[in-house]
Amino acid sequence: MPEQAQLLDALRRVFGFDGFRPNQEDVVRAIFAGRDVFAVMPTGGGKSLCYQLPAHLLEGTCVVVSPLISLMKDQVDAARETGLRAALLNSSLTASARRKVRKELLDGELDLLYVAPERFALGGFVADLEAVRLSLFAVDEAHCISEWGHDFRPDYLNLSMLVGQFPRVPLAAFTATATHHVQEDIVERLGLRKPFSLRASFDRPNLIYYVAAKTGINSQILTFVQRHSGSSGIIYRTTRNSVEKTAAMLEAHGVKSLPYHAGLDDGTRKRNQDLFNRDEIDVIVATIAFGMGIDKSNVRFVVHGDLPKNIESYYQETGRAGRDGDPADLMLFFGGGDIAKIKYFVDQIEDDAQRKIATDKLYQVVRYATTNACRRRQLLAYFGERYDREDCGACDVCRGVVEQADATTEAQIIMSAIARTYQRFGAGQIIDIVTGADTDRIRKLGHDSLKTYGAGSGKTKGFWRGILNDLVAQQCVRRTDDEYPTLQITAKGGEILTGRESFHVLRQTKIDRKKKAKAKKAGRTTLADAEVFDQALFERLRTLRRKLAGEQGVPPYIIFNDRTLRLMARDVPETTTQFADISGVGEAKLARYGEVFLGEIRAHLRDV
Ligand code: ADP
Ligand code: ZN
Repeated sequence: MPEQAQLLDALRRVFGFDGFRPNQEDVVRAIFAGRDVFAVMPTGGGKSLCYQLPAHLLEGTCVVVSPLISLMKDQVDAARETGLRAALLNSSLTASARRKVRKELLDGELDLLYVAPERFALGGFVADLEAVRLSLFAVDEAHCISEWGHDFRPDYLNLSMLVGQFPRVPLAAFTATATHHVQEDIVERLGLRKPFSLRASFDRPNLIYYVAAKTGINSQILTFVQRHSGSSGIIYRTTRNSVEKTAAMLEAHGVKSLPYHAGLDDGTRKRNQDLFNRDEIDVIVATIAFGMGIDKSNVRFVVHGDLPKNIESYYQETGRAGRDGDPADLMLFFGGGDIAKIKYFVDQIEDDAQRKIATDKLYQVVRYATTNACRRRQLLAYFGERYDREDCGACDVCRGVVEQADATTEAQIIMSAIARTYQRFGAGQIIDIVTGADTDRIRKLGHDSLKTYGAGSGKTKGFWRGILNDLVAQQCVRRTDDEYPTLQITAKGGEILTGRESFHVLRQTKIDRKKKAKAKKAGRTTLADAEVFDQALFERLRTLRRKLAGEQGVPPYIIFNDRTLRLMARDVPETTTQFADISGVGEAKLARYGEVFLGEIRAHLRDV
């Protein structure tokens, strides 16, 4: 077992990091002790270091199992940039390239060998592994082995032979999403032997959560993107059509953006994703078809233009932001109309139990968007985690960007109109009654003689629609599933109608300066707050990075991630020693890029 000093020395020398992130050291130590490991760590938690550091220090090769061929190449490129001896074996290689990797493996020249799970079904490969010294098996995205997980891949079942075939090699399984149930399933299927188990917090402290009412979605998206101009971001929309429209709208306003959805052919999809990966475009507008292959570390914002269908999806989609640990902004535009759209699909589910689960999940995400409680606390509670701090300082609720407004009277006006018409009408008629509209239908049905007729004539129809949507979202009123849906008052709604309970809605307000200052003191920053570096130098280094990446055909963040560039633009190193001190600069990168980046920094200092 290496001393802590040795580990820290390798961490600094090879990876250029000053210290371990939470939990990394425990996992690394367990591996050195020869134990199996099961680790749930959130995206950006730094899983790869947990096996790369042992792979570098231990004798023998670490075999990394990874589900996606597209991701594997980037992972190997990144490992090589760090100075590790890494290679991959998969069906995309030519026969001669495969032979070369096989020779490296047999000659003991690899620290890391990345493979897809199906390779273990090939006898020759297993025989090769038996002939060489192995340090570790690292199984990435381990939830793929469980049918209970959200991404089961039958090929992962091949891995259940590993512990039998290689009893002396420790096996470490990693995933970012696993409920307790899935965790047990993974441990059993892989046959992990009394593993060191770790469930890191699901909290992503550098992600800042916002929800805003959907009013005019395209102009809202444009404003948001313009406020984040020059940074990378993902915009999720539900339909292909809305993806195309939003991407075209952004292009028309000079934002470099491209669409991504299942209706595009494979080549176009891959090209668009690559351009995004390589920072050639800033924004990708996508349906949820996009994301599995995204390892990009500098995604600075994720926008949901439509309501996600459950909290898991929301967590996973937003989780693609801020992997480098720098702040990232997440915005969900919520409109009550989206509930019905998702409900429509949920109602198609034939199995009664499954349909009920999907419905509950939908209302959970609606509650998330409409409840005046810390967003982070709500998300963590969903994953069974308690958040003890009173104020996270990094969501709209804690920052005081939204406030709770009492709308009990308004709720009573609407529900009274529903009750007085015997719950037989839909939203249109109810709003006509409340606003006192003069229509044939109102007159014919005698609705103009109701006590609530015109009770809300002082406010617009849009206002009342908003209140009605909030009532549905908070499950005070239910829309029936009939061909002509009518509105029904639930038990919860009844309490409000009779004045036993009050009704609140969230309203956006201007940012509360005091709360913001407090959040800043607590160490939470937004993008805008964090910009205490030389922006011009940062841009210059980014351009240099893009050029180098283009020459080598790798994504830019593999050379240095945004965080490292920003530290360079903050600390402005002028000597090799100062440069080596920047977090993210290890020996290999110092040797390879030190001079050219220092040259650019010096040139910048001369120019300004
Ligand atoms: P995951 O696979 O868990 O999503 P990665 O292994 O890709 O996360 O790591 C995310 C980012 O964090 C990478 O840019 C990596 O360089 C950085 N990182 C990992 N460990 C550390 C550390 N100890 N100190 C600083 N940065 C780290
Ligand atoms: Zn909060």
